[in-house]
Amino acid sequence: MAVSSSLIKGLKCRECGRAFPAQAIYVCDYCFGSLEVDYDYDRIKGQVSRETIAARAHSIWRYREFLPIDGEPTVGFDTGMTPLLRARNLGEALGLKELYVKDDSVCHPTLSFKDRVVSVALSRAKELGFDTASCASTGNLANAVSALSARAGMKRVIFIPADLEMGKVVNSLVFAPTLVAVEGNYDEVNRLCAEIGARHKWAFVNINIRPYYAEGSKTYGFEVAEQLGWRAPKHIVVPAASGSLLVKIWKGFKEFHAMGLIPKPETRMYAAQAAGCGPIVEAVEQGSDIIKPVKPKTIAKSLAIGNPADGYYAADAIRETGGWGAAVTDDEIVEGIKLLAATEGVFTETAGGVTVAAARKLAAAGRLPKNESVVICITGQGLKTQEAVMHRIGKPIKIKPTLKAFEEAMERSAS
Ligand SMILES: *Cc1c(COP(=O)(O)O)cnc(C)c1O
Ligand SMILES: [Zn+2]
Repeated sequence: MAVSSSLIKGLKCRECGRAFPAQAIYVCDYCFGSLEVDYDYDRIKGQVSRETIAARAHSIWRYREFLPIDGEPTVGFDTGMTPLLRARNLGEALGLKELYVKDDSVCHPTLSFKDRVVSVALSRAKELGFDTASCASTGNLANAVSALSARAGMKRVIFIPADLEMGKVVNSLVFAPTLVAVEGNYDEVNRLCAEIGARHKWAFVNINIRPYYAEGSKTYGFEVAEQLGWRAPKHIVVPAASGSLLVKIWKGFKEFHAMGLIPKPETRMYAAQAAGCGPIVEAVEQGSDIIKPVKPKTIAKSLAIGNPADGYYAADAIRETGGWGAAVTDDEIVEGIKLLAATEGVFTETAGGVTVAAARKLAAAGRLPKNESVVICITGQGLKTQEAVMHRIGKPIKIKPTLKAFEEAMERSAS
């Protein structure tokens, strides 16, 4: 008899714990709680070690035992294993001695951490027999689904709010999806997609495939732990939209520890949000476990989710770990982008500006201690949100093609 190679037991309700089959479902019939993947950890423990992982190719699939597919991965062979920079200059600017930047602004293929989650979602969607990939997106997800489904040979129907940055629109359209721009904010796009999903048998990566999709975010945390020499950092500052990335980084650290790969994580989790859309930070600051939905108003469009699906769990992880949160203004976001660029030579998008600015606030408030390891999560690429900084940086010095013109211009700019 063939033994199943699957390390997934099924899905499990996060609220009442009821078990469900590992299908394209995401809500518990009994209590309306959200579902998550349940693994066979006893079997995983017998299969993984630091050595087996380290010997594998440099992609998210080096952690395959912790990812929810039955067979071989089919999407995302080149995704993940982005740099973890030792950020000495930024650390000096923020007064932090051991600072690292995890840099998904260069994640393959569409330059954001969404390539991780979509690689996992589409690998699973193909196993479940879907031929069409879809999503409700704040921008980066649209890019990742468009590109990765093109390479996976899937049809693609993508939904975005109509007011997205040009860079994100072009970065989807080039992969020739059916791109639907909805006149409304992300929360409205998401609700519409839930209705469309009831009619069309498509793999909406962040709706009916969400339990699998969300697991892909763990690889961000796994890489941080491996790159730090198999240990979790003391502090990690994570940008939050739905809150899923934050929740899954923490879950990833706990799993690595439970499987004997790292010492017990004593990480404090911190959420970074925009002041114009900060429902998770608001709940943390109020000491409340109720997430009050807001109408987003911020230049950080990739984080503009007013009613975050995982907000409750994110606030819970922050409380459990003794972390905190910070919300920052549009001006602070732009300053954050420029500070990272000037100190570390990394150009991040508005979400990264939120993270840098939030880390700056948390350090200034003494929430991030000077002498402990701190990781800040850079999750997207600055070339996609040029509108945000275009008028807040210098201009080129324009000259005639002569040496004289050059020397004169240098004199003028020096004076
Ligand atoms: C989507 C996104 C996030 C946040 O993701 P959640 O898991 O929904 O909290 C962070 N940064 C960037 C650049 C994103 O596109
Ligand atoms: Zn339930």
